[in-house]
Amino acid sequence: MSLLIRNAILADPAGPHRADILCRGGRIVAIGRDLDAPGADLLDADGLTAGPGFIDVHVHGGGGHSFFTDAPEAVRAYAAWAPARGVTAFLVSTAAPSHAALAARLAALLPGFETPPGAAEPLGYHLEGPWLSPARRGAFPPDYLRRPSIAEFEALHAAAAGRIRQVTIAPELPGALPLIHTIARLGAIPAMGHTDATITECRQGFEAGIRHVTHLFNAMRPFHQREGGPIVAALEEPSATCELIFDGAHVEPDVLRLAWRLLGPHRTVMVTDNLHLAGTAAPGDQFAGERIIVRGARAQRPDGTIVGSVATFDVHLRNAVDYLGIDLPTAFRLASTNPARIAGAGDRKGQLEPGFDADIVLLDRDLAVAATVCRGVIAYRRG
Ligand SMILES: [Zn+2]
Repeated sequence: MSLLIRNAILADPAGPHRADILCRGGRIVAIGRDLDAPGADLLDADGLTAGPGFIDVHVHGGGGHSFFTDAPEAVRAYAAWAPARGVTAFLVSTAAPSHAALAARLAALLPGFETPPGAAEPLGYHLEGPWLSPARRGAFPPDYLRRPSIAEFEALHAAAAGRIRQVTIAPELPGALPLIHTIARLGAIPAMGHTDATITECRQGFEAGIRHVTHLFNAMRPFHQREGGPIVAALEEPSATCELIFDGAHVEPDVLRLAWRLLGPHRTVMVTDNLHLAGTAAPGDQFAGERIIVRGARAQRPDGTIVGSVATFDVHLRNAVDYLGIDLPTAFRLASTNPARIAGAGDRKGQLEPGFDADIVLLDRDLAVAATVCRGVIAYRRG
């Protein structure tokens, strides 16, 4: 099965230029002028900018489909919906109210990971907890939190058939440091988040193996001039990538600009933290037994606690370009290249290059999604 994308504008750091993109067997096989491919399906991209598809490593659902469920159909349904927002791969970010419930959930959702070409690809799990600070739990109720336990992580790892890719953990919890070490040893990325740690405790966490930071600024001890906490520790740690939510509601644009100046294009990872309400017109719903209401780009509890974002990935991308004043090649690094590394797929996703997966988003002049290709198959085409 071949697909020829004609006359795309490539968002190249050296400057935009026109090219055809030939996809075969789910991969990009050639990029160049006037490519010929008899029998291939054609997609005329005239005037549209092509970039690597967006990869969301922190997403709880969208289009009405939630990952806080044991139904694998939810993962498949999200994977079918997400390309309309430019997303071609993602980590299933989930949690549950007990160890047994979480283990059961990870096992139950696995069949949903088998998505066909033409849908976004689940690249593994992101566990947001259960080893989170009670003081910075955000919208997670207390019964979602646990004391660090290597045995429990090993059980979750087995239940998930080794598909856990990212684990958000508060490094100051008793027993967190050896657990961080174990998470890294078993091939997942320990991510600091939902934490009340001091800067010293954060540095011990980085020493133990933390390599990534979950939604920098949100659900963590705030900056103080005599205790920089997780924010200063994260910004100052050159080996750590940091998630930023660009919905304009979780973090103010001025604060995003400040973080961007310190993180730069290699360490910034765009995430949505989307709930299932994202991309729907629903005014609210329930999460963990509590009412949530939509206020602009965010979903919150009636007391104002943010539960997640409802602005879809394409909105985050446009905001990032707007707030940071970055060009499109840089925006694609934040939205695709860097998250591909976090998701463990940096060798096959996140770049428009021959040999890489044919995960491609086509954007119009307003940076709206006009078409999306997932593993060589047209997954979305604006009507
Ligand atoms: Zn989240």
